[in-house]
Amino acid sequence: MDFSPSPKVVELQKRVMAFVQTHVVPAEKTFKDEMAAFRAAGNPWQHTQTMERLKDKAKAAGLWNMFLPDSKYGFGLSNLEYAPVCEIMGRYPLTAEAMNCSAPDTGNMEVLERYGTEEHKERWLKPLLDGKIRSAFAMTEPAVASSDATQIECSIRRDGDHYVINGRKWWTSGAPDPRCEILILMGKTDPEAATYRQQSMILVPKNTPEDVVQRLNKAVAATLNDPAVRSQLAAQTQVASAPMSPAEAARFLEAETARYREIAKSIKLQPQ
Ligand SMILES: Cc1cc2nc3c(=O)[nH]c(=O)nc-3n(C[C@H](O)[C@H](O)[C@H](O)COP(=O)(O)OP(=O)(O)OC[C@H]3O[C@@H](n4cnc5c(N)ncnc54)[C@H](O)[C@@H]3O)c2cc1C
Repeated sequence: MDFSPSPKVVELQKRVMAFVQTHVVPAEKTFKDEMAAFRAAGNPWQHTQTMERLKDKAKAAGLWNMFLPDSKYGFGLSNLEYAPVCEIMGRYPLTAEAMNCSAPDTGNMEVLERYGTEEHKERWLKPLLDGKIRSAFAMTEPAVASSDATQIECSIRRDGDHYVINGRKWWTSGAPDPRCEILILMGKTDPEAATYRQQSMILVPKNTPEDVVQRLNKAVAATLNDPAVRSQLAAQTQVASAPMSPAEAARFLEAETARYREIAKSIKLQPQ
């Protein structure tokens, strides 16, 4: 098989290399300095002006989203044509993100492009293709050999019109990035199925836990503030021979809500 790059790829290699030499290499120091300042200030999860400028330049140069092999959104390169471009990006680490060709967004965008609904594409694929948001892929788990997908333990269970995800993930690259809006999570939907048919991937909007906690908190607060519910609870505690006055019942419920808020805080959620 002939692996020599086609004239089209040679031309593209030249353009990418020229971009690297003109824009990326001179920006390496300012990028490093910006990151060092973020780390010194205690939060490396911020985006640098240097990278944003590089992205604008790469977009203007037409060196953008080169990864999608066969798609109306992509560059139309085969894997064989894309590989020599990746060789250059691998040698100059800022280049992949500058050209919107960096992991894990590339793989995630490909999944959304191939299997996403129109709503998924509108909400996540388009801003990802535009370099405005980022994404993450959550497969690895602390408790199991995660390079083997059959070992994954996180469960994904359908419960009416929503899914309950129960598991622990780590090494999810880019998840703390404030621009990360969507995670593709791998878990098991059918642990009884044949070995290689147990797993599924599910889209998890980044703010899901907060959403749930906020909705729960609002529901709890609304319930407790409902006078009918309060008097009923108070009446029930008296009927159940617990010597609790309505005021005591209200205090008890307030204490429980406060306890719940402390738990939410300790797992770094932001209840209302
Ligand atoms: C920089 C970085 C970024 C990462 N980003 C992500 C990310 O974005 N999302 C994510 O989900 N993960 C991420 N990871 C995690 C990474 O993908 C996992 O560490 C990797 O898949 C290996 O899984 P593990 O650590 O559980 O090792 P293990 O699976 O325990 O593997 C350890 C060793 O055991 C071997 N082994 C495993 N199973 C078997 C078996 N059944 N029989 C024999 N040998 C076996 C493996 O070949 C390997 O040599 C990242 C890791 C790094 C270093």
